[in-house]
Amino acid sequence: MTGNNPFTSAMAQLTKATTILEQRVTSTEIRERLKQKIEQLRQPKRIINVTLPVVMDDGTQQIFQGYRVQFNNARGPYKGGIRYHPNVSLDEVKALSFWMAMKCAVADLPMGGGKGGVIVDPKSLSEKELERLTRAYGKAIADVVGPDKDVPAPDVNTNGVIMGWMLEEFIKSKVHTVHKVKNVTNVKTLQTFNSSQLRATFTGKRIEDGGSEGREEATGLGGLYVLQTILDKLELQSSKVKSSSKSQVQNKQFTVAIQGFGNVGYNIAKFLYESGFRVVAVSDSKGGIYVPDGINPELTLECKKKNGYLAGCYCSGSVCDLKKGKQISNAELLELPVDILVPSALENAITKENASKIKAKVVLEMANGPTTPEADIILYKRRIPVIPDILSNSGGVSVSAFEWEQNLKNEHWSKTKVNEKLKAKMEKQAGSVWDASMTYKTDLRTAAFVVALERILKAMS
Ligand code: NAD
Repeated sequence: MTGNNPFTSAMAQLTKATTILEQRVTSTEIRERLKQKIEQLRQPKRIINVTLPVVMDDGTQQIFQGYRVQFNNARGPYKGGIRYHPNVSLDEVKALSFWMAMKCAVADLPMGGGKGGVIVDPKSLSEKELERLTRAYGKAIADVVGPDKDVPAPDVNTNGVIMGWMLEEFIKSKVHTVHKVKNVTNVKTLQTFNSSQLRATFTGKRIEDGGSEGREEATGLGGLYVLQTILDKLELQSSKVKSSSKSQVQNKQFTVAIQGFGNVGYNIAKFLYESGFRVVAVSDSKGGIYVPDGINPELTLECKKKNGYLAGCYCSGSVCDLKKGKQISNAELLELPVDILVPSALENAITKENASKIKAKVVLEMANGPTTPEADIILYKRRIPVIPDILSNSGGVSVSAFEWEQNLKNEHWSKTKVNEKLKAKMEKQAGSVWDASMTYKTDLRTAAFVVALERILKAMS
């Protein structure tokens, strides 16, 4: 990965989409108003900087730095994940919160954009240290989050358990406030608060904490629906096989390489595999594997968990066999001659340095910000469609919004209901982005930004 600044990239994407919007405006007055609103979208509404003293297991104290950026709430409460990573920076969180505002608008959710991050390598912490750090962060942001204010969720290196700890800290802070305000000793118990709508403050929770069915795999599943919709539009499938009916046999024609094998990378691998695609390569931060026959993602994950790394986990069909594959680097994975490349790790995977070497026919961005604006231009010139992050990975936030809605209504929907709603949403929004790209004769990313901006600008007036 390079030193590209993700916020600079995000603003370049905004500028490109704005040009299209401006071209459609004839009145000077309306153009001026449009400019003013876009100016507002160039900076977050609020940046919260938190300092987190944490007692380590050996009794020493370590101070961690964290952020919560609330970018825009024109369409509803701020919404976005919390990331734990040593490379977290304010500009990264700003970019991610901006993309969340765009993503929620593309997905047509009644939510704005926010994001959080803590500068930490969570792998260097014990479970107890991770919990203490999480509780410190949860307490530090308790005043600025809430079901109608800002609704965080998991992101890189965070999960449902971590959301549960944060929710407890948030509820404790509310109990504390009630206690102080009412000046009573016998305040509402934590349990009373637990069953209330306060759970809607965090999404991506465990089911027992009020989480939604299907949330954990929603980003991957949503990505599959988006990919299938766009592949149909691109008529790639019909050029590969004569028949026009969709089937596992057809999907089998497509080879896929996936960078990242965490929540998103693993789940998209699993859904693609189950739909008949051939996932020939996956990777994580330690490197990748190439298995020409196509991996079985579940077996590969089991093997990775057992060994601690992917190397040697050449698991195809029902067996893992050292002769079936080989180790590759992350750079090699990105340049494999596959049909579909799926960056599912971090920002800046595809840059001006490697964009001309990408051999995939389609890029499905499951990570946030994996392609820099310079790389976008190169890929567009090379006629490699990039299905943009704010569309491809919006399945996660969509089911997060379903979770929020279920909590607010005190309901629990079945997985079938959640997945049906997700499918309908993803197919509809992928169709809207495709149509916008045809109308404005532009790439899918710019089209997605135009769709999002039109919705946000309307809400800002
Ligand atoms: P995760 O922590 O579960 O997994 C991240 C994966 O990326 C791990 O396998 C890690 O080893 C790998 N990785 C890290 N650096 C790498 C590198 N240099 N090369 C190759 N692999 C590398 O995180 P996640 O939740 O899967 O998120 C992945 C991406 O998807 C992020 O960009 C995140 O913002 C985005 N995203 C996540 C969700 C969600 O629901 N979790 C939703 C939308 C977008």
